[in-house]
Amino acid sequence: MPGTAGLLAGFMAMLYIALLTESDAGIRGNVSALNSTISCHAALVPTAQCRRALPVAVKVQRRAFEQVRRPDARALRILAAALASAVFFADALTSLHIAISVLYVVVILLVAFTGSRRATHSSAWTCAALTLAALAIAHPHGVPGGAAARSAMSLVAIAVTSFIAIRHQASTAHLIEQIHLLNLTHDAIVVYDMNDRIAFWNQGAEKLYGWPAHRALRQPIHELTRTRFPAAADEVRAALLQAGRWDGELERTRDDGTVVTIASRLALLRDERGKPRAVLATDNDITLRKNLQMELQRKQDEMSAMLEAIPGMIWASTHDGEIEPMNRRWDAFDIAPGDATRKDRSLWRTLVHPHDLPRLENDWRSAVATGAPFEGTARLRRKDGLYRWMHICAEPLRNIDGAIVRWYGVNTDIEERKRAEEALERSEAFLADGQRLSHTGSIAMKLPDGEMLWSHEAYRIFGYAANVVPSMDLILARTHPDDIALVRQSYRQILAEAPFIDIEHRLLMPDRSVKHVHYVAHLSARQSGRFEYVGALMDVTHAKHTEEALTRSMTELAHVTRVTMLGELTASIAHEVSQPIAAIVTCGHAALRWLDRPQPDLAEAREAIDKAIRSAKRASDIVWRIRSMAQKRGPAHVPLDLNALVDESIELVLHELHDHGVELEIEYMSPAPHIIGDRVQLQQVLINLMMNGAQAMAAVTGRAKRLWVATRMADAQYVHVIVKDAGTGIKAEHAGQLFEAFFTTRSEGMGIGLSICRSIVEAHGGRIWAESPPEGGAALQFTLPVYDGRPQ
Ligand code: ADP
Repeated sequence: MPGTAGLLAGFMAMLYIALLTESDAGIRGNVSALNSTISCHAALVPTAQCRRALPVAVKVQRRAFEQVRRPDARALRILAAALASAVFFADALTSLHIAISVLYVVVILLVAFTGSRRATHSSAWTCAALTLAALAIAHPHGVPGGAAARSAMSLVAIAVTSFIAIRHQASTAHLIEQIHLLNLTHDAIVVYDMNDRIAFWNQGAEKLYGWPAHRALRQPIHELTRTRFPAAADEVRAALLQAGRWDGELERTRDDGTVVTIASRLALLRDERGKPRAVLATDNDITLRKNLQMELQRKQDEMSAMLEAIPGMIWASTHDGEIEPMNRRWDAFDIAPGDATRKDRSLWRTLVHPHDLPRLENDWRSAVATGAPFEGTARLRRKDGLYRWMHICAEPLRNIDGAIVRWYGVNTDIEERKRAEEALERSEAFLADGQRLSHTGSIAMKLPDGEMLWSHEAYRIFGYAANVVPSMDLILARTHPDDIALVRQSYRQILAEAPFIDIEHRLLMPDRSVKHVHYVAHLSARQSGRFEYVGALMDVTHAKHTEEALTRSMTELAHVTRVTMLGELTASIAHEVSQPIAAIVTCGHAALRWLDRPQPDLAEAREAIDKAIRSAKRASDIVWRIRSMAQKRGPAHVPLDLNALVDESIELVLHELHDHGVELEIEYMSPAPHIIGDRVQLQQVLINLMMNGAQAMAAVTGRAKRLWVATRMADAQYVHVIVKDAGTGIKAEHAGQLFEAFFTTRSEGMGIGLSICRSIVEAHGGRIWAESPPEGGAALQFTLPVYDGRPQ
């Protein structure tokens, strides 16, 4: 019975071992934690200690890693229980005289292998109890000395093994605790062997690189993270081997593919013989810092580039006004950025023109004292010795209390602007002088509001003070009452944006004097899209008076030449007049004869008297025309039938033409065109041309002296009169001079006939010229504006 009870007790004890090991599943949590928490931080663990601790840590991590993957505690428990059972039964039931219970040491080691101190303790006590129980069962009648000695030896083995296992567990637990502490760091701690295979990978590394420890371990670190060293990888390795440490920045690719910049500190781990064993890396993610640094650098570069790009000398100043150049624009003035701080802060003063320095210093001092923005101009000397005008301005930078911390300023070269301003002033003065001398003002008008700008001369022409605001009303107030409608019409054209305005009108000045002005303007589009008239207002009073005097002289000259011409035509005129008078006499005699007959023939007498009256009328017309040609009077422009005008002119020279043997051919346009003009003056032109033609044909013999006079339309606006002869023609060298006064080729000529013709035709708005037809002779011709019946 005692044997059966002992066996049962042994069985229960083994079951207890199994239960204890089962309850140690928690150790696996620790082991797992170990896997991911072992860490040795160079900053937390002194180097010597680290050297000792790290190889252990590497082993622990490896073991822990392996433990996770080995058969679990359940298998160990079953194995331990089976082994304990086997040892117990063999010890209790067999009569082998060996210390079989020494094998309990293996049971204890198996249990210790699960990592639980409590289980190890318990299994040790259980194994000791089983040893004693087996001794009692195997020797119920007394324990022989040999058996007792064997059991005692087994108990000593169990005690020693348990002690060592528990000590080992205690030191491991201590290490884990330390590793837990080290794991509190945010740094990534990685240990890799000399083949770059990762042996240790802490939570920080997991977080930084993304790979969990179980995927990272045993991987080649540089391939896994695609490390990019700042130098060649071999150089880094050589430096590490030589110095035992290496600090630097690396680029690595994380598990998710993003590239991070790492500040890495490497420490080389050597064994007792100094042989390199592993590398301990402490890595920090400095991507953000790096990016910020790069961004800061970029901003600084950008700022410097901007400072250099600004077309001015940039400077900063202390709150008390000591200036320091900040960009290279100062180079041209022989001061480089930094010079002022290194040498002399008042260096800039040496640059300022002596005449400008006192004023500039004074203004600058007062700006610094009051904190008001600074603005001024001064000449600064370049390194080539030339002074340049600068516009200098500065603004203070204040702190949150409003106190001035620094000043920032810029000097802008305004030399060109100054010169341009001076040139502009000069040209404005020239323009004003020119306008004054030529009596020409400028008027600009903006549309649609009619806002105006007058030059000084325009004010002077209108007789207004220069401070009045120019307007259309002011112009109308000065316009001669008879011309107001004309000016208003032009203003309407301006509002309708007519491209060109050309108007002449009179001004009635406050002293009742009359001015003649001529305004020409054109429409120009400004950049803003608004239209503007820019024009010139000329005071043509003097020219007008001169022109009137000229016209008067011309009229008088024309009169004189007409009278002279009449003198030349005396024979012809006498013939023209005597012919109707003789006809009157003849008709009178005939009438008398018809009346004196015994049977007076009243009808014949009446007819003869009618003829006499017609001849008297004809004589009277001729006399009237001659009188009007001889009369001294101003031109009178009236509508005229062009064909009738030519007819009347021919009538005066007809006899003269016959005397010269001229055959006259007339070709009138039908219906007869009308013109506006002075009858007598235009007759003078026609007579002159026909007489010249007759004179040019005087020497012609052997061919017909044909004079061809024609009227036609030159175009829709002008009539065309041609007087073509078959005379000597015009020599090429004379062609340009015919119409000049006093040009003549005739010994008895005066050379003013054609010049007067030109004055008359041009005064009528027409043009006169001479051509040499291919068949010979000359074709003198002129145009005149056609009269369309509209009031002039
Ligand atoms: P004048 O008849 O007194 O010379 P004009 O002014 O009438 O002055 O003519 C100027 C000159 O023009 C003439 O001297 C003559 O040389 C030339 N001339 C004018 N008409 C003709 C013409 N039909 N044919 C050739 N020459 C002409």
